[in-house]
Amino acid sequence: MIKKLTDRIYYMPHKEDTDRPSLGLICGNKYSLIVDSGNSPSHAKEFISEIKSMDIPPLKYLVLTHYHWDHIFGIRKMNLITIANKNTKEKIDGMKKLKWDDASLEEYLDSERFSDFTIECIKKEIPKRDRFAIGDLDIIYKDSIEIDLGELKCIVKEIGGSHTDDSSVIYIPEEKVLFLGDCIYGRRYNGVYGYTKEKLFPMIDEIEKYDANYYIISHQDVYNKSQIHELWNQLKLAEQIVGKNWSIEDIKKRFSDKFNELPSEDVNFYIKCFANVNKALSKS
Ligand SMILES: [Zn+2]
Repeated sequence: MIKKLTDRIYYMPHKEDTDRPSLGLICGNKYSLIVDSGNSPSHAKEFISEIKSMDIPPLKYLVLTHYHWDHIFGIRKMNLITIANKNTKEKIDGMKKLKWDDASLEEYLDSERFSDFTIECIKKEIPKRDRFAIGDLDIIYKDSIEIDLGELKCIVKEIGGSHTDDSSVIYIPEEKVLFLGDCIYGRRYNGVYGYTKEKLFPMIDEIEKYDANYYIISHQDVYNKSQIHELWNQLKLAEQIVGKNWSIEDIKKRFSDKFNELPSEDVNFYIKCFANVNKALSKS
């Protein structure tokens, strides 16, 4: 079900069961633009068919936030002018070399390319994969690109960061909305999920340059300004308390000595993210 966020921005919320990310719709006076293509042709089809019943300018562009499967598997179905940065294009070219039959998926699981959950989701979303292929990209930019939808400007900017090196954000200044894709999430370091301050903090500084009221994040509900600041504060606090350490017990004790209370559930999660990655990287 498509939701209206501002006068000219809509989104279809994420769905956890098959890891569908939220998809965005930005409507200028002349054209409309979609953010991310969905995790399957059927995800893309569902979004497009809902859009068809809306009274908006014609769909023209599709912008990708990054190369991960759940954001690009609907490209062909959407059949729009597809825009991505050079890094995303190179990574998608790599994905295009993969095969999607059951036996190949099992191989990727063993090679740790995809998780169990990812493979389960791909099988559910695209039961028949013999004719499945990832679609082509049309406009490749370096660093940033501005798209004019008619009296409405979209700024697409590559920011890299904590989740993948190719992440882009999409900013609509008139509406004060920023699409973040997955960029606030961590990644795997030697098989362990988490963050490093080197990847995370320069990205937060970059995001902070945009004056936004709403932040659309691919796998959760929309954040407002105070929620995003709360997230930054939790991440910074967790990193500060962890430092270069990785013993969760020591870190938790340091936290309670300093603040006279236990860390919140969220901060506790981020503490583990930093500490586990410290440990994983110390072995490499
Ligand atoms: Zn991702």
